[in-house]
Amino acid sequence: MEESSKAFSSLSITVEKGQAQTEQEPPHEALFLVLTYLPVYQVLAMSQVCKALRDAVNNDVLPWLNVIVERPLSSRLSDEILVKITSKANGRLKTLALMNCTHITDKGLQRVVEQNPLTNKLHIPACTGITAEGVTRAVQTLCQRSNCLSTLRINGIYNLQKEHLDMLAMNLRKNVPLEEQQMQKPNYYHKRGSFTVFSREENQRIIDLETCPKCFEVTMVYDCPKVECMKREKPQVQCRGCKFCIPRCENCGGCVGSEEEEEAACADILCLECWLQLPKCNFCNKPYCKQHENWWCSSLDPIFLCRVCDEHSHGYTYTDVL
Ligand SMILES: [Zn+2]
Ligand SMILES: [Zn+2]
Ligand SMILES: [Zn+2]
Ligand SMILES: [Zn+2]
Ligand SMILES: [Zn+2]
Repeated sequence: MEESSKAFSSLSITVEKGQAQTEQEPPHEALFLVLTYLPVYQVLAMSQVCKALRDAVNNDVLPWLNVIVERPLSSRLSDEILVKITSKANGRLKTLALMNCTHITDKGLQRVVEQNPLTNKLHIPACTGITAEGVTRAVQTLCQRSNCLSTLRINGIYNLQKEHLDMLAMNLRKNVPLEEQQMQKPNYYHKRGSFTVFSREENQRIIDLETCPKCFEVTMVYDCPKVECMKREKPQVQCRGCKFCIPRCENCGGCVGSEEEEEAACADILCLECWLQLPKCNFCNKPYCKQHENWWCSSLDPIFLCRVCDEHSHGYTYTDVL
């Protein structure tokens, strides 16, 4: 995906230049291939670039084989629009990735999977309008009709119980060879945000959720990247578990014992080792974690100022401003 977005930015420059010289010159062929990997709202934006791209978006199947809906379209996507968009793939839809599309219901999802039996990626994280029963039914429909479904992302769907997970795993495992199942990659807490639909390393996990070995809830379960933890063999001392059972460092994903737990200026948890290495606010002596590095109000060495201390120094809060 990164590659394709690079190609996208350099190619769009070519298009602009090309258009300035002559109206008729069509955009580079590769640009049409890039369309396949873009989220829906970018596909729509591309249709505004020139006539050839508009025609491709309106009439070709290619831009619609992978339907990825993320912000800002997520909250506006309805069942009706979803069915309309996916019907452009003519039954050949490969990826259905709906990120946080809260208005999509079981009915909408079911209609799409019935019309698209070849779907191999079903990613519906935080689509809270879809129920556990709805997911199970959709997966059963897909697995009965084809042998394609290879990854399922359902984190954030409410009330998923062990019975649902067992049923989903049973349906999916028919489709995936055993070796591939065993090759499942570990799931690290600090990498959870770097997930994209097309990333290769991500492909190997079949279902994102598991039963937590500590609390037995169906949730995201994280592995520990600490070398000393990976050597432990007894399951009762292993630090594999959900984020509630095992507190983890935001930067390295390692388990954090209560005696070495440090708080960052963003209120995330850091292990002592990571905490020591980070620059800290000159007033409260707290660092920011990796994901909130851009929260520094001033980061001109040697002055570091976090949001909280900046608020205090101005007498207003960020929530007032927002
Ligand atoms: Zn747990
Ligand atoms: Zn750490
Ligand atoms: Zn650990
Ligand atoms: Zn501070
Ligand atoms: Zn943070």
